[in-house]
Parts: sequence; C-alpha cells; structure tokens
Amino acid sequence: MTGLPSDVDVAVIGAGAAGIGAARRLREAGTVSIVVLEARERVGGRVHTIAPAGFPLDRGAEWLHSADRNPLSPIAQHLGFSVHRRPPEWTTRLRRSGETIKAEEEWIATREAQSRARRRAAAEPVDRSLATLLSPGGRWNKLLDATSTWGNGAELERVSVKDYVRYEDSGTNWRLAEGYGRLFQTLAEGLPVAHESAVSRIDHGGSAIRLEMARGTVAASRVIVTVPTSIIAQEVIRFDPALPDKLAAAAGLPLGVDNKLFISLEGALPGVERGAYLVGSTTSRETMSYQVRPLDRPAIYCFFGGRFAAALEREGQTAMFSFAVDELARLLGNDVRKRMAPLASTAWQRDPWARGSYSFALPGHADDRAVLAAPVDDRLFFAGEACSPNFFSTAHGAWLSGITAAEGVLTSLRTAEGDH
Ligand SMILES: Cc1cc2nc3c(=O)[nH]c(=O)nc-3n(C[C@H](O)[C@H](O)[C@H](O)COP(=O)(O)OP(=O)(O)OC[C@H]3O[C@@H](n4cnc5c(N)ncnc54)[C@H](O)[C@@H]3O)c2cc1C
Repeated sequence: MTGLPSDVDVAVIGAGAAGIGAARRLREAGTVSIVVLEARERVGGRVHTIAPAGFPLDRGAEWLHSADRNPLSPIAQHLGFSVHRRPPEWTTRLRRSGETIKAEEEWIATREAQSRARRRAAAEPVDRSLATLLSPGGRWNKLLDATSTWGNGAELERVSVKDYVRYEDSGTNWRLAEGYGRLFQTLAEGLPVAHESAVSRIDHGGSAIRLEMARGTVAASRVIVTVPTSIIAQEVIRFDPALPDKLAAAAGLPLGVDNKLFISLEGALPGVERGAYLVGSTTSRETMSYQVRPLDRPAIYCFFGGRFAAALEREGQTAMFSFAVDELARLLGNDVRKRMAPLASTAWQRDPWARGSYSFALPGHADDRAVLAAPVDDRLFFAGEACSPNFFSTAHGAWLSGITAAEGVLTSLRTAEGDH
C-alpha cells in the first residue's frame, strides 16, 4: 500500500474502473506525480471477483457489454484472459418458465415494440418515464418491469426514456473465465493506490486543492473524482466551496439496486442444458433471473433488482436463498431443493462505498450526465460510470470516462504551463 504523499500533481479519488483507467493514462504520460485515494482495502470498486468454491464469481460487473466495441475486450485478450463468447439468452427463452412457444414469441414481439416506442418517445421534446409506454393492463407489463430492474436497477416508472435510449448496446456480450474483477486487479498493478483513504472533504477554495481524510490531508494541483453518484448526492464527500450543480446532477442519477446470489448445484437440472437462463416467474415483478451451470460450473447464478432486491438485501442471504429455491422448485420440481446450497451473495445498497449498483437517470434528468462530467475551474475533474454519455452503468463506460478525465487533466496542466 502506498503511503500518503503530502502533495501531488494529480489525485484520483476512487480505485474502481474509472480511477484505474484515469491513473493508468496519467502514468503513461510520465510527466505528473499521482496518488489514487481509495476508501476500501482493495481495488476494483463495483468490479470484484471472489472464489468461495474454487472458481471465480463476479460480485459486480461480469459481462463485457458491447464486447465488440468494448476497449477492455482486446486488453483482456492481450493480458491472456480467457474470453467466453457464448451469447447469453437474457429473458428470451420463456418456454423454460412454463410458457408456450407462442407466448414466448408474443413476449419477444412486445419487447421489440417497446424498444421502438422508446426510440419514438425519446425524440419528443419532453422526457418521461419508461412506464408511460406500457399498454394499460398489458399481459407482459410485470415481466417488462422485472426486466427493467435487472437492466436499470429500477422499475420502469423511475427511468428516463431519453437517457435509456442514449445507451449504446451492440448486442454482443462476452465474459472472462477468470473474472472481470481479476482483470481490473491486473490493470491496477503498480499504480500508487493509498487504501483505507476515504476522502471526506474537498477544499478547492485555495491555490492547491486539499483532500481531507481521517489518515491525513493531501494537496493536489488537479483532482479526478470517480466516486459513485450516491457518495456525492449523500454528501459523504463535501465540496468546499459547495457545488450545488454537481449535487443536483448526482441526485438526478441515483444508483439502482441489483444483487446476485450464487448457489452451488449438485448434478444437472432436469431438462435444462448448461448455460441456460430461466426466469422465475413471467407474471410477477418480484422474481429472479437464473443462469444454470454457467461456464460449466456446478452453480446457479441468480440476479435480481429494484425494490425487491433492496428488500431481500435487508433480509439477508437466507431469505434470498429460500426465495430462489422456491422459484426453482416451482419450475423444476421439489427434488432440486436438496441439491442446492448458498455460496455467496451481494448487498450493494448496504455497501458503504457504493450505496447501490449502477446509475439510471430519473425522468427529466438525462442531461445530468453531462453536468456531472463537466470539469470545475479546469482543475476538478469528474469520471465514473454515471459520467459516460453512452456506456453509463458499465465498467467499460467508467474506464473510458476515467481516460477522458485524465486527458482533460493533462491538457489543463499543459495549458497552465504555457501560461507561465
Ligand atoms: C451487481 C452488479 C452487476 C453489474 N454487472 C455489470 C456487467 O455485467 N457489466 C458491466 O460493464 N458493468 C456491470 N456493473 C456495473 C459496473 O460494476 C459499474 O458501472 C462500474 O464498475 C463502476 O465503476 P466506477 O469506477 O464508476 O465506480 P466504482 O467501481 O464504484 O469505483 C469508485 C471507487 O471509489 C471508492 N470510494 C467511494 N467513496 C470514496 C471516498 N469517499 N474516498 C475514497 N474512495 C471512495 C469506492 O470504494 C470505489 O472503489 C454491475 C454492477 C453491479 C453492482
């Protein structure tokens, strides 16, 4: 662990995907002294791989979304990670959840119609929520809502249409056998990260910016803030002088909740091929998505979101497990119960340095991403997934936003040097 320097050219707050991207870009420039101040004892933030049963499990980011355009895909390959390219069938195979093939086709057609309606609505002058596009009493409304909690971490009524359609999804999703978290751990190697260094105040009133922590104070000429929007909105870090625009933008981009439960599975499941997805219920918004034997592992990965995930998180792992086992037993028969045991689970909302999973924009707040990302006085820079204009809520969006902020810092330092 790096000790705390008393002053540096650039301090990066947060060693998640954005902070690691920013610090690597600054180090590459070779001309500036840097420190990365990280509240946790580990790097990666919302990307974290664990291995409680001997094989890697990603507690946070797992998928290289838009993998064919994702800058981390070639980096992972270059570093020798094994990239799995099997396309996931997220919420398309409803026949495994007790629906007929005809119903499954209707569902897919409904999803496509929603997607077209979202693009049309986004072109209207006034923003609105995704829920306004549902047909009243529609057969698939609850499943559309559940799907929103998995994708956005929030129910349709909370999500801005304009922001939603700005996300660029190439439809290609890959993952790393070793874990996405391990990739970021590798990318952070050799960076000057000071752990257990939670910043509580950023004093940017003087000629140097002063960053206060319980461990001490660091003075920096430039700062890149990469913490989640929750940390800014809830004033875990205070800016002095205050930055009301940043606070308002962070509040307009709250973090939704998505959690994972990992279950160990003995043997195969009847009629479910390895790697297959199941939806627990097609008629309730309180349901989980399951992947059975992913990457041929003796496990089931369960994914759930929104208010339901926040409530289950408060109840704890036993409640999560019992919910999942009941749903799976309803679909596959009671015999499966005795072949499952809980392995691990997440509680991202209670995590003090995340306070949620990933950002979505409230209706009317799509433009808050640009407000949040804008530098202050050309010396306080902002990055993190919520600052990404097109890849928000993802690890690669965070990584790219970190690189953009680092380039902004380097340009501002060159400009300041030229002025002297
Ligand atoms: C369950 C779940 C599933 C996901 N699935 C995917 C996926 O499949 N693919 C994908 O691309 N993305 C996924 N994501 C989203 C992805 O993990 C995040 O968008 C991304 O990792 C955010 O990176 P970041 O650098 O912006 O923020 P963070 O990773 O949160 O990094 C910020 C860092 O700042 C630190 N910090 C906070 N407060 C302070 C402070 N006061 N002082 C110092 N340090 C502080 C934190 O500890 C953290 O390390 C998922 C997330 C979750 C939770």
